[in-house]
Amino acid sequence: MQGDAFLKCINPQCGLEYPIESTNVQCEKGHLLDVKYKKTPSDNLKEIFSNRGRMDQNIIFNESGVWRFRELLNFCQIDTENIEQCSKFLVSLDGSEGRQSKPYHMTKAADFIGISSNNLWLQPEGYNPSGSFKDNGMATAVTHAKMVGAKKIVCASTGNTSASAGMFAANEGINCDVYIPAGQIAPGKLSQAYQFGAQIVEVDGNFDDALRQSLDDAKNHGGYTVNSINPFRIEGQKTIPFRALEYLKWESPDWIVYPGGALGNTSSCGKALMELYEWGWIKKIPRIAVINAEGANTLSDLYNGKFEDEELRWNKGNPNAELIDRYYAHLDKENKRPKTKATAIQIGRPANILKGLRALEFTNGVVTSVSDSEMLDGMSVVGLNGFDCEMASGASVAGIKKLMNEEIIKKDDIVVGILTGRQKDAMLPVEYHNNPQNKFAIPPKN
Ligand SMILES: *Cc1c(COP(=O)(O)O)cnc(C)c1O
Ligand SMILES: [Zn+2]
Repeated sequence: MQGDAFLKCINPQCGLEYPIESTNVQCEKGHLLDVKYKKTPSDNLKEIFSNRGRMDQNIIFNESGVWRFRELLNFCQIDTENIEQCSKFLVSLDGSEGRQSKPYHMTKAADFIGISSNNLWLQPEGYNPSGSFKDNGMATAVTHAKMVGAKKIVCASTGNTSASAGMFAANEGINCDVYIPAGQIAPGKLSQAYQFGAQIVEVDGNFDDALRQSLDDAKNHGGYTVNSINPFRIEGQKTIPFRALEYLKWESPDWIVYPGGALGNTSSCGKALMELYEWGWIKKIPRIAVINAEGANTLSDLYNGKFEDEELRWNKGNPNAELIDRYYAHLDKENKRPKTKATAIQIGRPANILKGLRALEFTNGVVTSVSDSEMLDGMSVVGLNGFDCEMASGASVAGIKKLMNEEIIKKDDIVVGILTGRQKDAMLPVEYHNNPQNKFAIPPKN
């Protein structure tokens, strides 16, 4: 198929290209890949998208918060108006991925942060069908898996990836193997993977070990990898900022804030903004802020010059990759394992670090880290607004607060924070509220 979409290495000195049907997640020199499109989408699509979102046409691809933007991620190269073709190619859980997601004002979170409620938007991605933002990218990755005839999808997971992969695999009738760090997954996430019939593979080690093993097994046994190093995951996750920007009438906020784990979200937000800016859909580039957990702060350390006094940058495609290698060697030597109760971001070797750096450079971004107790407060105050989110998502709230205190985010800035997932760790809020020392605790009476 000779078409509009192809894969291209992100390293400008390398730039190797592959056909869109390729299942490589890296070029042959080991660099990450981007999905690229030759055509520029026309800007009257903005109106088409919002009509799709509004109208009840009983077309699941218009209800889906991912596929209603299908012209901007048309790697299947289908006629996007032809619903029969959409049904044949696009993987969707009855239009539910991304459907409930939009930004909200949350007054109690705004008070806690110390920002005017009008300036703060929080976008819950936890109301996706499997309970996290992962469904946005999994719908597209499994679409590509189906397009290339994959029989089995494979992933390593801190929990939500496995829930999402298991759900779509079950719905599409394909097999799913999930590699998990034994004993380090929230039970609510693990149980979803079991329930969806995924084959769990327990790895004695942490997430980084599980990812290595899953990539090897995928390569040697014909599995299709659906971790966020898969460039098609990144395509679907672009719709998270698309929905935020659409809701804000394509007027850019000053900031978009994410928790940072493997940095798939950071990468996809960066790619979305690069494309929108290039097409002239947005005039201003929002700054991305990435919030690490203090116990899993590889990006924060490297970006902020905490290791060997060098501030790691994308540097127009010439990042100091040796610095990253030396940092990882240092972690190994010190036997330093990522450690946070926010298991979704308990990652020491973010697989998308280079795409993340590219996103930070394009958006003049910042990186910081927050403690477990700050994340728990962030999570809890979101709950007091009637939304639940998991601990890792609390990093967005805690990070905005920290960056405001440091006057990096200014009082009048418009901020969009992404709440990445729903509460699946049932005991966490119970423990939090039973400890009267916690800021928002409402202990039980007897
Ligand atoms: C996966 C996940 C993250 C980390 O996202 P990355 O794209 O890997 O940085 C954060 N929060 C939740 C709830 C997650 O499931
Ligand atoms: Zn390359």
